Formats: sequence, structure tokens, C-alpha cells
Amino acid sequence: MKVNRTRVVVIGSGPAGLTAALYTSRAQLDTVVITGPQLGGQIATTHEVENYPGFPDGTTGPELVEAMRAQAEKFGARFVYDSVTKVDFEHGTPFRIETGGGEIYSADAVIVTIGANPRKLGIPGEDQYVGHGVSYCATCDGFFFRGKDIVVVGGGDSALQEGLFLTKFGRTVNIIHRRDELRASAALQTRAFANEKISFTWDTVVEEIKGNENGSVTSIVTRNVKTGEVTERPADGVFIFIGYEPNSDVFNGQLATDEAGYVIIDQLHRTNVEGVFAAGEIHDQIFRQAITAAGNGCAAALTAINWLDDREDQLQPLESEPAAEAGD
Ligand code: NAP
Repeated sequence: MKVNRTRVVVIGSGPAGLTAALYTSRAQLDTVVITGPQLGGQIATTHEVENYPGFPDGTTGPELVEAMRAQAEKFGARFVYDSVTKVDFEHGTPFRIETGGGEIYSADAVIVTIGANPRKLGIPGEDQYVGHGVSYCATCDGFFFRGKDIVVVGGGDSALQEGLFLTKFGRTVNIIHRRDELRASAALQTRAFANEKISFTWDTVVEEIKGNENGSVTSIVTRNVKTGEVTERPADGVFIFIGYEPNSDVFNGQLATDEAGYVIIDQLHRTNVEGVFAAGEIHDQIFRQAITAAGNGCAAALTAINWLDDREDQLQPLESEPAAEAGD
């Protein structure tokens, strides 16, 4: 099988990956972006982006992603709409990267920007009703809940921002939070409290999601953590926004991570493997903004560019090369 040689592979295509690809391709480095399942990552599923600099009237996640993709492509970045299933960082550079579609890439430098996935509640009915009332993406699924009763789980920025968005569709939006204090920013809290469609259920966890014989969600079972009271509440849609988990499994054992699975980097965005850099939510569990991810992507790319520059005379040519025998 053919191995696709390239200077840089960017794994992931959120703001971090797209910015990294813009910088490396603009630095005349042959760059392939392996997008993952969703071009743009999480921001692509965010309906309204009001805090990305340069857009005084706001923009949408998909518009921002498309603009970033087009800008990177303009400078030569190539996009592979596939997910990475295997990497070999152990044998040094060039690194081998395999995709689910069976493509193999060999890159002198890798920038990992694979982000994080929505955290699950892990309760009965959650997996069963995904796509039939359970969702982790208001932009994707809100439209299906016009005139319906919606439950949002969580108390952070995501829960409130997406809850506000869901009021465009739902008859009611009930935000269920496990404490009596929100983690979300004051600005979002003010907007949510002022919205007549939104109500809050405090100190409460969801323990089960139930549905009917048609496979659609009909109710949830909640428990008040202070009183222990268990209640069954009607619900047509359950939107879960309880944080994210880093998407680092594919690098298991090859990239150093912390206990939660976030990739460990230094100030220059270098991982423990020389030639592999990381940016975005794969390492950042604090800021998690599109603009910080983009900034991190820029920084990781600049370090990668300098690193490649320093070893220019050692780099192998870029012609496609035959793969090593199977089993190696
Ligand atoms: P988050 O800030 O980690 O909040 C997660 C929320 O879910 C918390 O309220 C947490 O409760 C709750 N939670 C966690 N695990 C739970 C469980 N098992 N059961 C029930 N509730 C659970 O996550 P996020 O809201 O997705 O935000 C992530 C980051 O993105 C944050 O840094 C945020 O500022 C940023 N963000 C920013 C914007 C914006 O700027 N407009 C929009 C979206 C996200 P506790 O509060 O009790 O821990």
C-alpha cells in the first residue's frame, strides 16, 4: 500500500488544527489535515459565536470553520476527511499515521489537535436514545424539538448557552443542575434567568432516561441530591452538556498524558515525543475557547516550523514511497 509522505500532518480540524495548518502551509511546508469525524470539531456545532475577535456582529460555528478551512487551503493545506486510528510515534521521525479509511501518512512533524468529546452521564437510556431524544449538540438537533419540552443537563457555559439557543425551538427548557450554583459566566446567567422559557431545577441529578415503544424519549427520572426525592418528569429531548473528555486514546502509551488523559506539553507546545506537538483542548482543560485553541495552534505550528527548519538537511524527500512489509 502507498504511503503518503508529507512534511506535516495535523490531526484534528478544530480552530487549533485549522490555524496550525494555516501557519505550516503558509510556511511552504507540505501539510495534510486529517479532520476527524467532524470538520471544525466542537465549534462546528456551536450555533452562535459572539466572542471570536473580528466579528462585531458575531458569527456561527460552521461559518467560522469554513473560513478557517478555506484560508488554510488557500496556502496549500490538504484535507483528508477521515479519522486517525493508529499512530507510530515510537520509532521517531518520519512518523507513521493510519486512518480508518486505510490511508497511511508519513510525516516529519505531527501537530495533535484532536480535542475532546462530550462527557456522558452514563445512565440507563442515555446510549439507547441518542439521536431519538438524547443529544450533545443543540445546533445539530434543536430543530427537531420545535414546540417540545426540553431538558438540559449541566450548569456550565455550554449548558446555558445551548439552553438559550434551544429556547428558539422548545416550548420549555428546563436546566437541571447537580448543585444550587451555576458554573457558567455571569453574562450567560443573566440572559438565562431573564428568558421566560427557561426554568432551573437545582441540586438534582438525572438517573434514567425513558422512552416509548417508538423509541423516542418521553421522560426522565431525577433525584434531588439533598432530599433524596425521586421524580419522573416528562421530557421530549434531553441535551447533555456536562463537560468534555480528551480524545487521546489513540495515542495511548505514546504521548504522555495527565491522569485525566490530557496530553502534557511544555511552553513551546512540545509533547514528550520530539517532533510531535499538541494544541487545543487535547491539552487545555482551562480556557477551552475557540480563540485560545487558535492561538495554541499558531504557537504549536511556529514551534514545528522552527523544529523542521533546524533539521532541514536531515529531512527525507517527499515522493510517495512503498510501505514496509505488512507486520513491521
Ligand atoms: P464545564 O465548565 O466543565 O461545566 C460542566 C457542568 O456540568 C458543570 O456545571 C458540572 O457541574 C456539570 N457536570 C459535570 N459532570 C456532571 C455529571 N456527571 N452529572 C451532572 N452534572 C455534571 O463544561 P462546559 O460548560 O462544557 O464548558 C467547558 C469550557 O468551555 C469552559 O471553560 C467554558 O467556559 C467554555 N465554554 C465557553 C463558552 C463561551 O464562552 N460562550 C461556551 C461554552 C463553553 P459542577 O458545576 O457541579 O461541577
